[in-house]
Amino acid sequence: MSSDTEVDRDLDADVIVVGMGPVGAMTALRAAQRGLRVIAIDRSSQVYPLPRAIGMDQEIQQLFEAAGLLGSLRANSTPMRAAEFVDHDGRRVVGVDLPPGTVGALGHPFMVAFEQPPLERDLRAAVRAAGVEVRLGYELVSIEDHGGGVRAGVVSAEGTMEHTARWLIGADGAKSTVRQIRGIGRTDLGFDQRWLVVDTTLCDPDLELPAGTRQICSASRVTTFVEGHGNRRRWEFRLHPDETREEVLADPAIEALLAPFGTPAQLRVDRAAVYRFHATVANSFRDGPVFLAGDAAHQMPPFNAQGMCSGMRDAENLAWKLAAVARSAGGDRLLDTYEQERRPHAAAQVAHAVDAGRLIDAIVEEGDAGVASGYGQQPFPRLDGGALLPGHSAVGLPLPAALDDGPRDRCVVGGWTLIADRPIESPMAVWDHLGASVLVRELPQLPGPRSAGQVVIVRPDRYVAAVTDDPADAGERLATLMGAGVDRGAGLGGHR
Ligand SMILES: Cc1cc2nc3c(=O)[nH]c(=O)nc-3n(C[C@H](O)[C@H](O)[C@H](O)COP(=O)(O)OP(=O)(O)OC[C@H]3O[C@@H](n4cnc5c(N)ncnc54)[C@H](O)[C@@H]3O)c2cc1C
Repeated sequence: MSSDTEVDRDLDADVIVVGMGPVGAMTALRAAQRGLRVIAIDRSSQVYPLPRAIGMDQEIQQLFEAAGLLGSLRANSTPMRAAEFVDHDGRRVVGVDLPPGTVGALGHPFMVAFEQPPLERDLRAAVRAAGVEVRLGYELVSIEDHGGGVRAGVVSAEGTMEHTARWLIGADGAKSTVRQIRGIGRTDLGFDQRWLVVDTTLCDPDLELPAGTRQICSASRVTTFVEGHGNRRRWEFRLHPDETREEVLADPAIEALLAPFGTPAQLRVDRAAVYRFHATVANSFRDGPVFLAGDAAHQMPPFNAQGMCSGMRDAENLAWKLAAVARSAGGDRLLDTYEQERRPHAAAQVAHAVDAGRLIDAIVEEGDAGVASGYGQQPFPRLDGGALLPGHSAVGLPLPAALDDGPRDRCVVGGWTLIADRPIESPMAVWDHLGASVLVRELPQLPGPRSAGQVVIVRPDRYVAAVTDDPADAGERLATLMGAGVDRGAGLGGHR
């Protein structure tokens, strides 16, 4: 589909979101909050009742805040106190302590442990409140291109029906039907490990357990411990090749694995499940009007707690771009930047998670010297390419919060924002076209050089798009990158 394609005005919705897991729900919410008509379907009629994701980084906490869900997040989460890799004897090889009150550059705790089911229920309630047409118990079975968009075939207890929309987002998990229907292949990074995940409730407040997250790098049993929200405590045990699922899921086996940490009276087992941790990236995140997000697009082992977080980044990146295109503040080219930006970023997260697994093995084999392997020490990825103007080290990173002035700058969250420490005098037609607002205030503390008259240009997803002393020129260049009105010449002073 190109920007010139005639879009059928009678489509049922702007966008159909397939899958109401955390990523699909956040995508639907952020799209609806930006004015899109959204239908969200899930074949399951309930929120998945058991927690899977447990760690959430500061950027995704900020997204929950932008979505109006910070209260629910805080009620269902606890800041993490530490993260470390220890050797067989429990000695820290590498790690970090996070004293109470520690916040990152975005003004939130670096990482919180959260309780997924109640937070997801609140997320779904927000999705409904935002006007999304939610259809649970509906399974997507077919997708055809139609009317400049898609026609989605859906099966439910009531029978078969079709919905039409300009776009469709497959947020339908690792086995994604959408990905299969569109024939999108995956690159496999060759990681394949089986782990037993045991969630418990701490019944004995005097039981001594590690603070935060601990990777126990022991040849006899590689184990992850995670201090969850409230009384939740999680263990993940890497299985030996000869161990079967049935064996390790038996109550005596779980009791024996937990024995070094506590007794059944101290730790009540809430659930146990065996997972196969994979590392894959879809070869494309877009096929015409169809997009992939979340586990449908990428899967990674959970060592860095980035699987869902990466999917949430997909959600926000896609939601603002679809909304911009719907109101002609971006062309089809802007939608191509979804894959240009998100695929390398997510692929880096997958690779980093695999490397964290390799760091565990290096410490098992070499103890302290394992750190010299270099595994697990890559910097957090940034956006590179896409709807950005490189040239300053802050570009491609989320805007840091003003830590000293109370509530974060909510006005920056919604749309394009130009932050300047004095009124901007250059022509603003292009920015008017993009619906930007100007914020005159002290400039945020950015990594990289600072100069008089600098203007920080922030995108609707709060990423820094440019740092410039010529905002009119930067606006025209960004509008060109986004195909925003360039073809129509709407107010883009001389840029046709
Ligand atoms: C043990 C473990 C620990 C983890 N820890 C973390 C962590 O700490 N931090 C983190 O960020 N991530 C973590 N993850 C990863 C995280 O759980 C996943 O990345 C996340 O759940 C993916 O969300 P999703 O919405 O993309 O997919 P899912 O949660 O899989 O949701 C997909 C939805 O699509 C629906 N669906 C599927 N097919 C169809 C269809 N044809 N029609 C309609 N609906 C359909 C399903 O019913 C489901 O509701 C962990 C994962 C595991 C297994």
